Amino acid sequence: MKQILFLFSFISLISCLNENKSNVKTSDASYYTVEDFKSVRKFDIHVHINTPGKTIINLAKANNFKMLNVAVDVSSYPPMEQQRTVREKHFQEDPDVITYGTAFTLDNWDHPDWSKQVISQLKYDFEHGAVAVKTWKNIGMEARDNMGKLITLDDPKFDLVIQFIEDQGKVLLSHAGEPKNCWLPLNEMTVKNDRDYFSENPLYHMYLHPEMPSYEEQINQRDSMLAKHPTLPFVGFHMASLEWSVDRLAAFLDRFPNARVDLAERISHTQYQSQQDRDKVRAFFMKYQDRIIYATDFQENDDTNLADLEKHMLETWLNDWRYFNTDEIVSVPQLDDPVQGISLPKEVVDKIYWGNASILFPALESK
Ligand SMILES: [Zn+2]
Repeated sequence: MKQILFLFSFISLISCLNENKSNVKTSDASYYTVEDFKSVRKFDIHVHINTPGKTIINLAKANNFKMLNVAVDVSSYPPMEQQRTVREKHFQEDPDVITYGTAFTLDNWDHPDWSKQVISQLKYDFEHGAVAVKTWKNIGMEARDNMGKLITLDDPKFDLVIQFIEDQGKVLLSHAGEPKNCWLPLNEMTVKNDRDYFSENPLYHMYLHPEMPSYEEQINQRDSMLAKHPTLPFVGFHMASLEWSVDRLAAFLDRFPNARVDLAERISHTQYQSQQDRDKVRAFFMKYQDRIIYATDFQENDDTNLADLEKHMLETWLNDWRYFNTDEIVSVPQLDDPVQGISLPKEVVDKIYWGNASILFPALESK
């Protein structure tokens, strides 16, 4: 009950702010208002629910969101077997809200049958409902073969696996590389979420590891993989790690017509650019409206503080919604200065928040 009251008061507060600041837009039928947030159907293709808990799922239900719950080969998460089991369970219990993506580990990488072993696991996962497969930045940045050489995404050993994903009509989700901020000292990073993450995860803060492959090398490895699989349904998670420049991201989308990108944890980087040149960022979203997918990277683990998670989810959703739908001045926690919304028209917002994801993951379309 406390949660419902909180939600109600939070939305009322946002509604009041909206009425005071954007009377023009609220009367224009081409744009959504902040009040429309709850009623418009939405899809978030990037969440990590690693526990039987249902905080994220219940809040998604209450706010008209479908979600893709994605497994990740990261050591801070439960073992892969457990991640896949909990995802399948959520999918069985709430198939109208949740679909899921599986992942594979690099265990036995040096075994000649590694690709075959992974394919047989993926076959099982696809038969049990998985609609996508995620690769993570440990490929390219961390994992090594038994000779000590870094394993990269363009390694021929991945080709059979990726071909299998494509043949089965599934989607490859890839978090490759890192935001460009990762190669800068903390005090030069453009957004607070990167400063927080890299101060807590020095292993992945590439500025501290000059012996590791450069930003461009890691981007190139992902791109060489894609060049080998031009018809693969592909989503570059986190704006394909090209979050710092809409020009670079546009060039990527032009080069790979089957690639889409999600916005998870990189909307602040977009807003940073939009503070310099709002028209340019808005033009990017208009031009690539069929290729961009809303996502958040919300996580629910056994030790998550659920009240904090709910608060974070509602704040993120409503800040993002105001930025994309209105021309209000929005304060966001990741930036020192506020940013003006880019007021995308309804039909563009419908694609970014629903249509583009439902083309890739049609199972939830009718539910
Ligand atoms: Zn993620």
